[in-house]
Amino acid sequence: MDNSLSDPPIENIRGIGPQKAALFSKLGIRTVREALTYLPFRYEDRSQIIRIKDLRQGQTETVRGTVVSCALIRPKGKKFRIFEILLSDGSGTVKGRWFNQPFMQRNLKAGQDLFLRGEAKRDPYFAGGFIIEGPEYEPASGDGLIHVNRVVPIYRLTEGISQKQFRKIMFAIVEGYAGRLKDPIPAEVISGLGLPPLHESLVAVHFPTVCDIALWNNGESPYHRRLAFDELFLLELGIASLRRDVEMTQGYGFTGGGGLRKRLEKKLPFDLTKSQRRALKEIETDMARPAAMRRLLQGDVGCGKTVVAFFAMLNAVECGFQAALMAPTSILAEQHYRNLCTMGHEIGVRIALLTAGAKERRLDMIAAGEIPVVVGTHALLEEPVLFGKLGMVVIDEQHRFGVAQRVRLRNKGNNPDVLVMTATPIPRSLALTLYGDLDYSSIDEMPAGRIPVETKVFSADQKKEIYTILEEEIGRGRQAYVVYPVIEGSEHTDLKAASQGKTGFAKVFPAFRIALLHGKMAAAEKEEIMRAFARHEIDLLVSTTVVEVGLDVPEATLMVVIHAERFGLAQLHQLRGRVGRGQDVSRCLLVACAGLGDDARRRLRVMVETNDGFRIAQEDLAMRGPGELLGTLQSGMPGLRVADPARDLRLLESAREAAFALEKADPGLGRHALLKEACSAFWKGRADFTAAG
Ligand code: ADP
Ligand code: MG
Repeated sequence: MDNSLSDPPIENIRGIGPQKAALFSKLGIRTVREALTYLPFRYEDRSQIIRIKDLRQGQTETVRGTVVSCALIRPKGKKFRIFEILLSDGSGTVKGRWFNQPFMQRNLKAGQDLFLRGEAKRDPYFAGGFIIEGPEYEPASGDGLIHVNRVVPIYRLTEGISQKQFRKIMFAIVEGYAGRLKDPIPAEVISGLGLPPLHESLVAVHFPTVCDIALWNNGESPYHRRLAFDELFLLELGIASLRRDVEMTQGYGFTGGGGLRKRLEKKLPFDLTKSQRRALKEIETDMARPAAMRRLLQGDVGCGKTVVAFFAMLNAVECGFQAALMAPTSILAEQHYRNLCTMGHEIGVRIALLTAGAKERRLDMIAAGEIPVVVGTHALLEEPVLFGKLGMVVIDEQHRFGVAQRVRLRNKGNNPDVLVMTATPIPRSLALTLYGDLDYSSIDEMPAGRIPVETKVFSADQKKEIYTILEEEIGRGRQAYVVYPVIEGSEHTDLKAASQGKTGFAKVFPAFRIALLHGKMAAAEKEEIMRAFARHEIDLLVSTTVVEVGLDVPEATLMVVIHAERFGLAQLHQLRGRVGRGQDVSRCLLVACAGLGDDARRRLRVMVETNDGFRIAQEDLAMRGPGELLGTLQSGMPGLRVADPARDLRLLESAREAAFALEKADPGLGRHALLKEACSAFWKGRADFTAAG
């Protein structure tokens, strides 16, 4: 008996030669299993058969009748040939016509009982009758009805193969192999969730007999769910074993008693929020364990992650270790540095800054372990930087750093605890999957007394109102951002360029200090401008989205986004987060410059309605699907063919729970050989995605 997954290459299928195999491979199908999990992207209900006399001009319909006559015609003086049939069902007669397919005369014969489908057109040469050109057809006798008289699958295809050809091959594969594929997922897992068996599911997603077409088209039938579950289960199983590796990694257990933290807490001008306290507790509990910590701290911009991270760092410091905080840009690192210095000063903890341009680089003191807390950029990763005793690493804005960099920083110590901070709130189960090897803490409330940013939508022709608001804000000593989607105007679009914008504003407001900031500037130049803005030497910063991350300027109270309809929700929210950082009410003006589609309208409405990052993230996920989100967060997400983590969030949760339980009951999957094989096949080539980093 064959005990492996037995997944024959696609060439083994009758009717697939090297040429077809190459086409299939273009679609990502190399084996029978891959073919079976290549699902239709939609379904067409062709189960309705109408009478020929009920055909209507321009309507696509299916009829059934007897072939009355066939003819192969060569029009005079023309090179091509036409094959025509007449089909009659007693109610009327319809003509079918095929251009340049003389072989059709072998396929169809007079007297045959036939289904015919296509768009009916009046035929001027066929008194009052209809003609269907290039129809789909299928003999009504015989058993397998594939193309008509049923709900038929429509696949995404590539040039060189037609729906009909592909469907026919898929039908053969489903018939021949769906029942022979071994099911690697344990039966009790599947039945426990009330999901249908594999065989049944494969048949039903390709060639449903009875179906609710809307459910099928949305990929939400029980059979779709079953196949999506399989993928998510294998995904989570791999993650479960990554987690186990992390668990087995010896780290430091920090059990200092929290003296430093308590001293600092007394000096802070505020109390931690409930959410902050809960996150800190989770982090401290984790740090106290002897295993290495790998944890994600998620929370909206301004919710107070840095304070929590600093408390956690003190935990390591108290035990005689060093802690490092890595930020994606010098400006952010400096901001963190100033922040931490203020707090560190209160309790006599020294902080050092380490960026490429930092004036003093106390490498010796860091190497000697004399400076307990070091804040920096990528410069922390460089060769000459050595830590005396690095026990804890905090990484801000995770998605700016690759997994490899995370590993490099960690290797500066002897497996220090790692805390990754991110301001892109996403649902827990999705976060746990994306950052597979990390545990998860989140801060989901804002400190009391935060003033929400007032958000309003304007149209491009409300220039006057927008200018008035700008004048008002800057006139009372505040600062403003104006953000554009691109740098230079392009002939092909009506995008308003930031550079043109700057010139325009300079004309309207000659008294304002205005600067331009964009992504094509040299890094040093960019930083200089941002610093000048932070020092309030600039009133109005006209920029592209480079201003998106990091800048913390309390006096900036106005954010104007031009072409707001072109920005995604997450990006708009991040941009808006640049203001509202001081004691005053801040405003965000979303300027819509083009006709709004439904999606754009909805995005802008969400922005006006809420300041809640979690809600915005949910909406974003619901609107865009996770693809783009995943793309921005971390590249190399295992390609999912069936599952859609946004749509299937609940299923993802079940898959995670079941996979972790199984991995726990049978670590290494010694008792589930087939499953183990399926899991490694699934993870093959996808392994860097969460590479335990
Ligand atoms: P994040 O890193 O999540 O964007 P920060 O930690 O930089 O947020 O905090 C933003 C601001 O809020 C800082 O000025 C910080 O001192 C302040 N802050 C943090 N926690 C609280 C709190 N519980 N109450 C009031 N202010 C707080
Ligand atoms: Mg921050």
